[in-house]
Amino acid sequence: MRCLALDIGGTKIAAALVENNQIQQRQQITTPQDDAANAMHQALATLVQQYVGQFDYVAVASTGIINNGILTALNPKNLGGLAEFPLQDSIARHTDKPIFLLNDVQAAACAEYQHMDPQEVPNFAFIVVSTGVGGGIILNGELQTGPNGVVGHIGHSLADPNGEMCGCGRRGCVEAVTAGRAIERDAQKWDKPCSPKEVFALFRENDEKATALVHRSAKAIANLVADLVICLDIQHVVIGGSVGLADGYLPLVQQYMQAMPHFYHCKLSTAKYAGDAGLIGAAYWGEIVLA
Ligand code: ADP
Repeated sequence: MRCLALDIGGTKIAAALVENNQIQQRQQITTPQDDAANAMHQALATLVQQYVGQFDYVAVASTGIINNGILTALNPKNLGGLAEFPLQDSIARHTDKPIFLLNDVQAAACAEYQHMDPQEVPNFAFIVVSTGVGGGIILNGELQTGPNGVVGHIGHSLADPNGEMCGCGRRGCVEAVTAGRAIERDAQKWDKPCSPKEVFALFRENDEKATALVHRSAKAIANLVADLVICLDIQHVVIGGSVGLADGYLPLVQQYMQAMPHFYHCKLSTAKYAGDAGLIGAAYWGEIVLA
């Protein structure tokens, strides 16, 4: 089966044909920011029309929450003003093939899980620590999305009730404490302001302030992993995202997890798929649902 896969992010939209995990004819455009809804309809029309006649179904991985075909966000800033966008209908104007919509991290979780043995790892979670923090959860071998598409938005679980205000409006979410944007917010207050990449470079040189920031993030992610293990009996967590994959981060998460009692432990590893996880995972999920 040939899939037209789309990955809608806050800054870019990628499109490609995906068959047997192989990506062909990939292209990328900038996510519209001005007059976002109209521009998004136009962008999707242009993209889908270019591939007409070449695919059996459409699968979309998108940032935000996909609720019954409508795209929304917990943190509207992540979607450039796209508060409630009729994603399913917008694509259906240009094709009568089946359309499947997923959150981008839920899709990436599928990509990471597809080569695992469901007997060995029935319950799995993917955590992306990037500009924000997101997740995808697989239970008994099946991706969970929930009736409102919300399952896996673990970046908005609680890390610190006295922590910073999160973009979603709640105080102390994991995202507000651990994400790239959170590290940046804190490191911008330093005498010599730093980007998250620079913070990690300083951390690797044992700089005290950078070490404290990176430890704070990794400790909160270790606690998130422990919560997932104890709430959902997760066997394996994969961590991705530019912060999650930064040198030295995973060993630190591991270290904080190991310091907890053994029933909070699970296997931890880094993501295999980088930029194309959304495209590959959405295509894979669509094929499962179609079968
Ligand atoms: P996107 O998630 O939009 O693809 P990036 O992956 O470039 O964006 O960046 C996501 C977040 O990770 C940003 O907050 C960025 O500052 C941070 N980041 C990017 N590269 C690194 C790095 N090498 N080490 C640590 N943090 C990084």
